[in-house]
Amino acid sequence: MQPQKSRPGAGTAHATTSRSNDTPIDRVLHRLDKVKRTAPDKWIALCPAHDDKRPSLSIKEGDDHRVLLKCWSGCGAAEIVSALGLSLADLFPGNRRSLSDHGTGPMRRPFDYRDALQGIAHEATVARLIIEAANSGQEMDVESLDRLAMAEERISDALQAAGGTQ
Ligand SMILES: [Zn+2]
Repeated sequence: MQPQKSRPGAGTAHATTSRSNDTPIDRVLHRLDKVKRTAPDKWIALCPAHDDKRPSLSIKEGDDHRVLLKCWSGCGAAEIVSALGLSLADLFPGNRRSLSDHGTGPMRRPFDYRDALQGIAHEATVARLIIEAANSGQEMDVESLDRLAMAEERISDALQAAGGTQ
């Protein structure tokens, strides 16, 4: 009788790699080099948008599964995703249909300028509050920098939804 050897350590942290390839974070991490996990929801990797010798791209998965990208050399989220062959929409969950066949599934809903401008106004307020805090002597922490990066991404995303820069 052969004892069925079951592998010990089932349910280890490695389960993430076999997670559905459908989440924005998997999509992004899959395409990056020298990915290293620094926290449950944070990673660093080589930035694909500039000649990066040591990882200067920080990646964070937000509560709503959106992906936040921050290159410490200053590359914008739009440059980073385009270097990965993705679009800004790929950083957000809930737009799965256009992901596999990129470019062929544009968002059909009409663009709402009022919504977008309200969103941008909100992001500008957030940025002002963070800058004010930094200006008053508070140390700029990673959360604040992440939040600023998110503001940039949200504004870029609104621009993208409005038809992009060209
Ligand atoms: Zn970069």
